[in-house]
Amino acid sequence: MLEITLNSERLRARVADVRQRIQASAERSKRAVEQITLIAVSKTHPPCVLQQAIEAGLSDLGENRVQEAEQKIAELRRTIARWHLIGNLQANKARRAVNLFDLIHTLDSAALAQRLDRLCVEENRERLPVLVQVNLAGEEAKSGISEGELSKLVEEVAACEHLRLMGLMTIPPFLEDVEQVRPFFRRLRSLRDQLGSQGYFGDGRGELSMGMSHDYEAAIEEGATMVRIGTALFGQRAVVT
Ligand SMILES: *Cc1c(COP(=O)(O)O)cnc(C)c1O
Repeated sequence: MLEITLNSERLRARVADVRQRIQASAERSKRAVEQITLIAVSKTHPPCVLQQAIEAGLSDLGENRVQEAEQKIAELRRTIARWHLIGNLQANKARRAVNLFDLIHTLDSAALAQRLDRLCVEENRERLPVLVQVNLAGEEAKSGISEGELSKLVEEVAACEHLRLMGLMTIPPFLEDVEQVRPFFRRLRSLRDQLGSQGYFGDGRGELSMGMSHDYEAAIEEGATMVRIGTALFGQRAVVT
């Protein structure tokens, strides 16, 4: 019990620290902090930690595996938070994803878009918000559509009646020096601006899901509207994912 109390104190302190940094980054770039959603990446952590996150005022949780999220959601309830799928989505998990998540960040093929659209009908989901994941550096090991194929995919997603395209997401190469990551954030923003001006994001400007524990401040300076933060809130993960 004592340990739980200590952990929850530490989590609260980390949430406060991250929020303060988000605020400072927003101010540096003359943006309103309300434009930025903090997604607490809770992958690998047990439901009790997620419960503490909610109690510490976090309202958005990011999970990278459908099955893991499903178990946690069953235990904690679907409505306790907004649930974000930030990991690769396999076709055979798509039906469950349609039922579990508020926003899917990792749409990266027309086949997956069409499948999700069809499953929305079958599962009675009126609208499924999605982001298209872009693989800006062409890294083999990472999912995401290449820049060259982006506009075609975006058009295909726009044609899916039940999908609602909200914006773009990227996982840039991991580089120690954040200044070397910054050009990738700028590039995603510029792609978002182009697509936004063509009306692909409806009335909105389009979300930009970018920035993790070690680079979220730069991502915010470059326009991120959603930052996905795990380690800076929950500490090092025991399990490598
Ligand atoms: C794990 C993960 C994060 C969080 O990474 P941290 O470095 O722990 O903040 C963010 N985005 C994605 C897609 C992830 O898989």
